[in-house]
Amino acid sequence: MLEPRPMALTSEQRAEIEAQRNEPQLTSRPTVPAMEKLLFTPIEVLDHGFLRVVDYMGDDGAVVQAARVSYGRGTKKVSEDAGLIRYLMRHRHSTPFEMCEIKFHVKLPVFVARQWIRHRMASVNEYSARYSILDREFYLPALDQVASQSASNRQGRSEALDPETAERVLEILRRDASQCYDDYESMLDPEGTGLARELARMNLTLNTYTQWYWKIDLHNLMHFLALRADPHAQYEIRVYAEKMIELLHAWVPATAAAFEEYRRGAFTFSAGMLNVVRRRLAGEAVTQETSGLSKREWIEMNDILEPEA
Ligand SMILES: Cc1cc2nc3c(=O)[nH]c(=O)nc-3n(C[C@H](O)[C@H](O)[C@H](O)COP(=O)(O)OP(=O)(O)OC[C@H]3O[C@@H](n4cnc5c(N)ncnc54)[C@H](O)[C@@H]3O)c2cc1C
Repeated sequence: MLEPRPMALTSEQRAEIEAQRNEPQLTSRPTVPAMEKLLFTPIEVLDHGFLRVVDYMGDDGAVVQAARVSYGRGTKKVSEDAGLIRYLMRHRHSTPFEMCEIKFHVKLPVFVARQWIRHRMASVNEYSARYSILDREFYLPALDQVASQSASNRQGRSEALDPETAERVLEILRRDASQCYDDYESMLDPEGTGLARELARMNLTLNTYTQWYWKIDLHNLMHFLALRADPHAQYEIRVYAEKMIELLHAWVPATAAAFEEYRRGAFTFSAGMLNVVRRRLAGEAVTQETSGLSKREWIEMNDILEPEA
């Protein structure tokens, strides 16, 4: 559910958002009623983070319009348009999706921002900690997310720690972040060292929150979402991606449905995997040893073909 989160903001920030929401613009451009309802409103993510749409351009019709290079809206029957969008997605005809854009305001922990910024096909403007003082706000995971290192996946986490150990971890995280922030403040204090903001910030912990404006086209947004809403992505970035997928459904429902079908819900078989599938369909009992696949590929293929096994 896309829940607005008024408490994450100061009363001034809330008033600014409200004022913007109460100033409807006259436009001949296509708009999406579901997005107009959500525009500017922060959606809660993690403990202090949020995501809000501050602007968008285009809709499903814009994708169709570009694909048909038409003069007017370019849309035909809803079913025909949806069919065209599914065709474009299925065959990776990506440029029509680049005709739509969306701009987010995101508040996120620094360590999540480091993963997010790897997606280069976006325009970003981040809150300047050289110019401004960062807020005393740190991400602390919920108890059930304080988990042990995964033994099978070096990049992942496993079961949640027992509550007592998890509390101890949270206490360490809370204490260190607070201590570092106290020192940050005292270094900034003109009565103390009067250190420049651009230097004092290096003392802050990676769970400190930052903010940015992030603008991306629909094609690259779906690439980001396919990677970051995937179970292999870290939970803390995945939760943002999952909220963005809800927004995608509100913004461009036909494109979002095609994305779920051909990207998020799909799996690419290698030539070797397809060969195994064909041999199995012909009745052969293929094993990993006779498959020509590596152990890892074998497991990945079988996880897809027999998820319950
Ligand atoms: C689960 C997961 C684990 C990861 N682990 C690591 C890790 O351990 N270490 C690490 O360093 N990174 C890691 N990454 C980051 C990953 O390698 C990519 O950098 C990140 O996902 C961005 O992908 P991208 O380059 O496709 O996206 P974008 O930068 O948004 O680019 C989109 C597409 O544009 C094209 N493109 C963009 N820039 C260029 C360019 N300069 N040259 C050619 N083509 C370009 C490419 O086709 C690219 O796919 C991880 C990512 C995920 C999802």
